[in-house]
Amino acid sequence: MSEVTRTVVVRSTPLPRKLFRVFVELEGMYRNVVEQLVLCAVRNGITSFTRLKALRYRELRSLHPQLPSHYAYTACQDASTRAKSFFKRRKRGSAKRDYPEVKKVSIWLDDHLWRVKSLTSIEIATHKDWVAIELEQHKQYWRYINSGWRLASEAKVKLDRRGRQLIIYLTFKKSVEVYRPRGFVAVDVNENHVAVLVDDKACLFETGFRDIVLGYYYRRKRVQEKYGKLYGTSCRVEGRVLRRLKERRKKCDLRWKLANIITRAAKERQYAVVLERLGKNPAKDMINRIDDEQLRHRIYQASFKGVQKAVEEKAKERGVPVIYADPRKTSRMCPVHNAKIVYSDGSRVGRCSKGGEPWHRDVVACYNLLLRARLGDGGVAPSLGGFTLDGSPVPLGSTAAHDPILIAREVWARRKPLDAMNKHESLKMTI
Ligand SMILES: [Zn+2]
Repeated sequence: MSEVTRTVVVRSTPLPRKLFRVFVELEGMYRNVVEQLVLCAVRNGITSFTRLKALRYRELRSLHPQLPSHYAYTACQDASTRAKSFFKRRKRGSAKRDYPEVKKVSIWLDDHLWRVKSLTSIEIATHKDWVAIELEQHKQYWRYINSGWRLASEAKVKLDRRGRQLIIYLTFKKSVEVYRPRGFVAVDVNENHVAVLVDDKACLFETGFRDIVLGYYYRRKRVQEKYGKLYGTSCRVEGRVLRRLKERRKKCDLRWKLANIITRAAKERQYAVVLERLGKNPAKDMINRIDDEQLRHRIYQASFKGVQKAVEEKAKERGVPVIYADPRKTSRMCPVHNAKIVYSDGSRVGRCSKGGEPWHRDVVACYNLLLRARLGDGGVAPSLGGFTLDGSPVPLGSTAAHDPILIAREVWARRKPLDAMNKHESLKMTI
């Protein structure tokens, strides 16, 4: 069993001026309490919420007697978290002052300070009694409500003064049971493709991260040249323009879609997902060997880790086990003959130096990951899905090893399940 947590942001409907003022007052008092507690915690070197509460609870209650008593608890939690991160920053040497500043405040609520009134409204305890708040609904909120997630007792509230709205951070939780895998889905990520091997069927998902990143690179260069001449390097206007280039969001979206497809395929078959075990900064290790500055940037930005993270998150949500395998030489060794694979320059398809059979670079990586995952896990021996390692000269009946199914981005980005794509929309790869 593992527990998955997600935060969903919901806005209240715009509040009447008078009602909104109640929350402005509440926030003021809460901020005041947190400021004092943070000072106290830092001065006394306290990071424990219970110690902080024991020390200051009585005083806080007498200071703001009109405030519901549980705000003293949540403020202590808030303050001890702030103190903890301040101590961490100070240790790293990145703290600018002797005391942490309390700039942004969100009001922490526990189960005594808010309650659900209906699916579309909540009540919050304030110094002026309970206040009912209507929520603005959106698709994501309903998806969580309707799909087995339960609302946790903690919540946070921020004020949007311009729109006179409350921004409410709700926490949803779900317990997920991780199943015992009956097989594996191997996933290999590189800068322009994600290769997925399921039941001896290899699919290459075109991600185009390279093109997204390269496009961004050129546009960024142009922006820098333009504004650099006008205002000198790294000015604020430039940053704003660059942010608008939205590289990040585009990539992020594709990652989630891909993660959805992969984990759904694994779940349907009760398989585990096999990923490369990556170092702390995999892209950085890779680029050290590359001289071309443009290519370095490109690979660095392609962020392998991002794809992996999305797959990990989605797998956790669906109870899909994840296994990590050593990524060394995965595309250079033949998994059947344990011999080197020779690639003639630039080609994605190479030949085994012993058996002479063709291997697609990304697919062989998947087979190696699969093999390592299987060898690493001695107990259960899930089927390799038709792939046998008996050393016979032509071990692979299928053409999957050198002729994977290439799935164009336009196809998978529409979020079809893997099987549907295999049947109807696959494009045979031409080598
Ligand atoms: Zn071979």
